[in-house]
Amino acid sequence: MTIDVKKQKIIVMPCSGIGKVHGLIAREATYAVTDELAPDSFEPMCLALLVSGDEEALAKIKKMDCITVDGCPKLCAAKNVEMAGGKIVRSIRVVDAFKNYRGAEPGTATKLADDGWTIVSEIAGGICNKREGEVS
Ligand code: SF4
Repeated sequence: MTIDVKKQKIIVMPCSGIGKVHGLIAREATYAVTDELAPDSFEPMCLALLVSGDEEALAKIKKMDCITVDGCPKLCAAKNVEMAGGKIVRSIRVVDAFKNYRGAEPGTATKLADDGWTIVSEIAGGICNKREGEVS
């Protein structure tokens, strides 16, 4: 599937992942994309808004493409976007990024260490690179 750069912004939806470093990495990668690297191309959405049935969030998720960033294989963000009728153009799992960093010490659920920030950068860079390319 190809993302048309002339189209509207893409939503980046991280899972809520409280209590796990994977969740913190998902959120930080989202902020890195939407606040720093490509704010003109991506915008974040709060998973809790969607889950709680916020009308504005539900309307938005139905008409915009969405990239989900989940901490673990439970895929809370991806599942809830699907249930809300959203169109996921890419589903990212933080645990998959860890496969390239065996033995890494990413930090804790509340504070990332250098390895954690490295993984954040890899995920965020991957999201931005996909903006103009093939989405898988
Ligand atoms: S996907 Fe995993 S880390 Fe994220 S909110 Fe769900 S259970 Fe927590």
